[in-house]
Amino acid sequence: MFRAPLLMAARSTRLRELVERSRLSRPVVARFIAGRNRDEVLRSTELMLKGGLLVSLDHLGEDTTNAAQAGQLTASYVDILDAISECGFGAQAEVSIKLSAIGLALPHGATIAMRNTGIVCAAAQRAGTTVTIDAEDHATTDAGLELVRELRVEFPWVGTVLQAYLRRTEEDCRALADAGSRVRLCKGAYREPASVAFQDKGEVSASYRRCLDVLMGGAGYPMVATHDPAMITHALLAATRNGRGVDDYELQMLYGIRVDEQRRLADAGQHVRVYLAYGDEWYGYFMRRLAERPANLRFFLRALVTP
Ligand code: FAD
Repeated sequence: MFRAPLLMAARSTRLRELVERSRLSRPVVARFIAGRNRDEVLRSTELMLKGGLLVSLDHLGEDTTNAAQAGQLTASYVDILDAISECGFGAQAEVSIKLSAIGLALPHGATIAMRNTGIVCAAAQRAGTTVTIDAEDHATTDAGLELVRELRVEFPWVGTVLQAYLRRTEEDCRALADAGSRVRLCKGAYREPASVAFQDKGEVSASYRRCLDVLMGGAGYPMVATHDPAMITHALLAATRNGRGVDDYELQMLYGIRVDEQRRLADAGQHVRVYLAYGDEWYGYFMRRLAERPANLRFFLRALVTP
């Protein structure tokens, strides 16, 4: 009931200003955002790695409006990758990128996004780690997949995110289940029309299971991005059924969500990667986390009104 209005609110500039200005919302925001800057997120990264978890760092930014802004974000990705290299984290700490942040929506956006992601991939290669391209709204799916296809010619390890709520995704999984591919499968966090996306939770879960079966049965490296216990159980069974050991796939969750389960799975010998979002541009990401769970909204509203 709250999902659609919250996802609409995620696009509202006025609400964004209001929420960002409110000091009271900060403790709630801190639950999902791993740091406001490079040093803070590096500290969070170190703690995670010491605790036996892996990380993927997302420097938040969406709907970049000019090439200079896209260039700055690219430079900050290079900066964090240089830090990953200096700290010797290697592939334990990778990065995730949103193409809208790096210039895809600008005029000549495909060329700008290709150039910027190429720069980030070269820095990741130097740091001995990987890059995964996030999935955004369905209007960008084709452009994202095309960009990954081109990037993989030079950087075969570039990962793609696919969203199980899209009707097309099972087919996309088939196309991407080849040797060397890295596919992060999530349910999907945007507001999409019924013409392109399943609307019913049960249908989304059924699609997620079908997609998992395709990826686990293929020759690539599946990255199972979900907090849903039923999906995780299905993934582990599908991995065993397809003769995959723990090094042949990984489980992924978001920072601040089901933290005990992240620990439990890592302690049980699973590779668990935590997606750490950081930076000042947290509003859109934060609102999507609220939309996923009404209890988060109650917690947030209580923080806003409690003196
Ligand atoms: P749900 O059925 O939504 O949740 C299962 C259980 O997990 C819930 O019952 C609850 O206990 C817990 N939970 C889930 N969400 C929350 C929350 N916000 N707060 C508190 N508890 C919660 N989406 C995209 O569209 N594009 C992306 O590129 C993308 N990248 C992602 C990367 C990673 C590593 C992960 C884990 C998710 C990503 N997502 C992305 C988000 C994803 O699409 C879902 O919106 C989100 O993961 C919730 O779906 P779920 O599979 O956890 O299942």
